[in-house]
Amino acid sequence: MDLLKTLVEKGLRRELPSREEALAVLATSDDDLLDVVAAAGKVRRQWFGRRVKLNYLVNLKSGLCPEDCSYCSQRLGSTAGILKYTWLKPDEASRAAAAGLAGGAKRVCLVASGRGPTDRDVERVSDTIKAIKDENEGVEVCACLGLLSDGQAERLREAGADAYNHNLNTSEETYADITTTHTYADRVDTVQKAHAAGLSACSGLIAGMGESDEDLVDVVFSLRELDPDSVPVNFLIPFEGTPLAKEWNLTPQRCLRILAMVRFVCPDVEVRIAGGREVHLRTMQPLALHLANSIFLGDYLTSEGQAGKADLEMIADAGFEVEGADQVTLPEHRSGGCHGTADSGCHDGASGCHDGDSVCGSTPAAAPAPRVDEPRPDLVAVRRRGAGTDLAPNA
Ligand code: SF4
Repeated sequence: MDLLKTLVEKGLRRELPSREEALAVLATSDDDLLDVVAAAGKVRRQWFGRRVKLNYLVNLKSGLCPEDCSYCSQRLGSTAGILKYTWLKPDEASRAAAAGLAGGAKRVCLVASGRGPTDRDVERVSDTIKAIKDENEGVEVCACLGLLSDGQAERLREAGADAYNHNLNTSEETYADITTTHTYADRVDTVQKAHAAGLSACSGLIAGMGESDEDLVDVVFSLRELDPDSVPVNFLIPFEGTPLAKEWNLTPQRCLRILAMVRFVCPDVEVRIAGGREVHLRTMQPLALHLANSIFLGDYLTSEGQAGKADLEMIADAGFEVEGADQVTLPEHRSGGCHGTADSGCHDGASGCHDGDSVCGSTPAAAPAPRVDEPRPDLVAVRRRGAGTDLAPNA
């Protein structure tokens, strides 16, 4: 398999594949899927061994957003029956974070709905970061508060934030199709502000919104250019009550190809399987651990994940190990970024050569016949536990 051999060699050298090679990964057939996973797995193990980093989401403020991101259950006009609440107090957020950390998470992601924080919001979040860090030595804290104004990234950094998340979500070309209240350029600007302030940048994508393979490759190449330390890959959770409720476009196999493509393009970056893991990968989740080196433990912002205990069992059963607080996440050459010390990325609402076959050299063969997943709204459960509720968190 010339294509996969080339991609492994490039990944081990941290060399950017060509667009054609990235597209060819997405066009592979189901017959070649295990070869694709095995090849990308080699690259994953080179940079991250068999470690899986666990991250834990705390939704500081849920719902009631004035923005119109069409994938998001918290958007303007969403009728999804999600929890809606305003800012958690620092001690409430700290208690929620403690549950995730006790379950094995090493990073806490503090997320708030909204276009972006006011300066008063940055103060609130700073108090929350302090409360969490006072109680939990060595914890990594990532903030995800939307678009940042000048000086806010610096203030978060001073308050002890290690990382900032802001996803590009989709290609520049299709961005206006999914959101009209802010632009792709706004998002790029915030990632750059986080970077410039010395925060570890976390920025990723959402697959399954009806985008083309070219769009997926475009956004991943743009991410590589922005050079985040972590790339969350969300698989759209088609919430009833949002404009994308009918977009059930993903199969487990497609999700694995997308994760493999991201790994080849961003070989030494923390690739995190984010929202939609259980909904779209389903029983294939363990295979995805050969591609990504990071997942969220337990629940997502507004939807429920599988039980935290099941996440831990899956990791052990698949022959991986949970990354400890004393282990450095990123390879040494990237360790100027997030490396699990006190100084060390979530705004996403809530993937040989066979002649005549599909994996061959750098010329993608015809794409396999699209196989659209059946709608499975039964797989989407609104979060009813953890932060903002009286019920114990899932961790
Ligand atoms: S993704 Fe963020 S900005 Fe967009 S609607 Fe959801 S909460 Fe608001």
